[in-house]
Amino acid sequence: MAPTESDLRSPEWFRTVVFYELSVRSFADSNADGIGDLPGVLQKLDYLTDLGVGALWLLPFYRSPWNDDGYDISGHYEVDPRLGTIDDLDRVVEAAHGRGLRVIGDLVTNHISSEHPWFQSARKDRASPYRSWFLWSDTGTEFSRARRIFPDYETSNWTFDETAGQYYFHRFFSSQPDLNYDTSEVHTEMQKVARFWLGHGLDGFRCDAAPYLYKREGTSCQSLPETHQFWRDMRSMIDAEFPGAVLVSEANQSVPETVAYFDGGREFQMVLHFPIMPNFYLALAESNPKRVLDILKATLPSVPPDGAWAYFLRNHDELSLEQVSEEEKSLFFRYFPLPPGARVHNGVRRRLAPLLGGDDGSVLLLTALMLGLPGSPYLYYGDEIGMGDRIDLPDRDAVRTPMQWDGSPSAGFSSAPPERWTRPLVTDPAFAPPARNAADQEASTHSLLWRTRTLLRVRASHANVFGSTGFEGIDLGSSPVLGFWRPGEEYRILCLYNFATEPSEGALPLPDAVWASPIELLRGDLSSTVSGHTFRYRLAPRGFSWTLFLSRRPRSAGGRSASVR
Ligand code: MG
Repeated sequence: MAPTESDLRSPEWFRTVVFYELSVRSFADSNADGIGDLPGVLQKLDYLTDLGVGALWLLPFYRSPWNDDGYDISGHYEVDPRLGTIDDLDRVVEAAHGRGLRVIGDLVTNHISSEHPWFQSARKDRASPYRSWFLWSDTGTEFSRARRIFPDYETSNWTFDETAGQYYFHRFFSSQPDLNYDTSEVHTEMQKVARFWLGHGLDGFRCDAAPYLYKREGTSCQSLPETHQFWRDMRSMIDAEFPGAVLVSEANQSVPETVAYFDGGREFQMVLHFPIMPNFYLALAESNPKRVLDILKATLPSVPPDGAWAYFLRNHDELSLEQVSEEEKSLFFRYFPLPPGARVHNGVRRRLAPLLGGDDGSVLLLTALMLGLPGSPYLYYGDEIGMGDRIDLPDRDAVRTPMQWDGSPSAGFSSAPPERWTRPLVTDPAFAPPARNAADQEASTHSLLWRTRTLLRVRASHANVFGSTGFEGIDLGSSPVLGFWRPGEEYRILCLYNFATEPSEGALPLPDAVWASPIELLRGDLSSTVSGHTFRYRLAPRGFSWTLFLSRRPRSAGGRSASVR
């Protein structure tokens, strides 16, 4: 269900919608060159509105040599010609808005491509005005405490450039020199980049590598006070010039460092919840969701009134295990068997469905959990049909293969001969197009796609509750069931999730303020009875339920009275 006009005008629109992250390059090819493109996205907007998402996150579509799939930008004010033109982007944004869909892009501030004219000028001429836009060294030994992001590929954060006659600093690949934020022109330029794309109608940005902008000797060079100030300035500019546009932080850090990117409402409206993400999987491994409830209790109070956690299960990167202990990593690897080569960058380059053994029930359990929490859920393209991965492709390309639209040899992605495609299709028979595709799943009410859509529709129908900040965790002791209330004005919703591979039963007290006549919003997994003020439930293996209870005394004067007994 698309958001209404009033939802779109609400400054907190982002809390009521589900985001859908997609790679333009891998989504749909409109011009038979083997590369997905913006007109391809335009052609698939019906699919996206039918799915029920409310916002698209388009992975970088800017000019780039694609050494890091577009996160190495060589032209900040251009669409990469292989993906289309700026007019094509305008058409996508206009058509999306016409359907009530928001569109956000990526803002990549930490680094650029080494092919960018700024870096080319800087390396060739010490007198270039761009020389100070980068970090140079005669020894390449500074900032030694700065973590390497891609330790499997880079042995140092410094690379010697023969032409420049000096080392330059790069937190990511050596083809991505970091910008120098001690140079004020860099700030001005990045605000100009943000203005440019917001001026083309984008509704905000997912901000790549947010913690790394400033470097200071003797520190980890992440989340420094100066870096937070940069983001406060960006937020102030956007609030003043583009009210309603949002910033989403990518900060894969510890809980306190991650929470700091809300900064009480002064920096990001949304912060990707990296700390909770691996705990979703560990809870499955343990058949015990206590760790998830604990981290929710610890992190939900930090959200400012105009903010939201951004939840995700998978994305275009590896599933990061940086924030978990060695013991937890061992548990993860014991429970989720991986093919050789699936581990990379201290994480796992697998998609959701193959990681969970192709079990749609587990995929739906975690998806429904993410959708039930206060905050903004992010789906990754293809996970709604249980697409697989290709571990034989380099690095994270494993999880960036073409969308599987149908079961044909081309999967409906492109009519170009497959040898011209920049990325091949999944071949594992369990997850390849004949087994997992959108067309077949649209025709079956039992499919992962259909059931995912149902979840999104039910969530959208109750956006007043699911889009609110209310959350009351329920202590169910050592039960494998995670339970919480989502309280609303006229009714409240009880969310239950069974992490066990066996059925689970239990009982919980109902609040005095509800009528004891539950309405089950999802069908199939729950059987329940109410006696007095006790709710007894039985959930199927890996089953879940959302159950509505009308309030006895609605708090809103003039609201619809709850008269159902
Ligand atoms: Mg194309």
